[in-house]
Amino acid sequence: MIKPIIVGNWKLNGTKKRIKKFSKLLSLFLTQHNFKGTIAISLPVIYSYIIKNLSIFKKKKIFLSAQNVDNHTLGSFTGEISPNMLYDMMIKYVIIGHSERRFNHQETNYIVANKFRLLKKENLIPILCIGETEQEKKDNKIKEICVKQIDTIFNMCGIHAFDNSIIAYEPIWAIGSHNSANPLKAQFVAQFIRQYINSKLNYKIKNFFIQYGGSVTKNNILELMSQKDIDGFLIGKASLKITEFIKILELINI
Ligand code: PEP
Repeated sequence: MIKPIIVGNWKLNGTKKRIKKFSKLLSLFLTQHNFKGTIAISLPVIYSYIIKNLSIFKKKKIFLSAQNVDNHTLGSFTGEISPNMLYDMMIKYVIIGHSERRFNHQETNYIVANKFRLLKKENLIPILCIGETEQEKKDNKIKEICVKQIDTIFNMCGIHAFDNSIIAYEPIWAIGSHNSANPLKAQFVAQFIRQYINSKLNYKIKNFFIQYGGSVTKNNILELMSQKDIDGFLIGKASLKITEFIKILELINI
């Protein structure tokens, strides 16, 4: 792992006070350490301004990510936020296809692919979450599920779809479970994803990264990061606690 991409997904957590405290300590850490990778924080989008006001944001030592986007660009869609609005707010990365949205908001592969298409049009970087359920793992369907989720994107967005993008391999059973995937198994799937994407292309892909997500902690980060095809992490729970998040960053930076 040369220049890892670390994204902290805060989900539906945080208050102004808590996020300000987190940002202050993260700023201090990044000012005192030369972190070699890329860090983005995916806050509830109304709190993004807190990160945006930091000097480390202006110095591009930290980036903003969003947890979702609508699959329309404008119009009568009450409560939604469009890709161009996110771009306007200096957000760079957008998580799409997270299993919590697929299940809680009935987002199909088609809807996710349409979001991916709109993000690319707006020059935002999609973080496409893919991965299998516990049952699909038992049924030996990991590759099949990943291929289906990837192919919907290729079919809608064409051969260059994955240039400048991130796939987060997130086995659904591992998310929030304290039960991360075995690092060798995560590597196996990450390698499969990379090979599958490359097998579809007749050119060398640019700026394409694979993250692992699912119960990443300070205790398992070292083994996960030593896997060849894992370029970074999407981190939920462990990104909420500043001490744990900083510990993870320290370990990655060794
Ligand atoms: C996630 O929700 O994307 C995630 C990886 O969560 P956790 O790290 O808590 O498993």
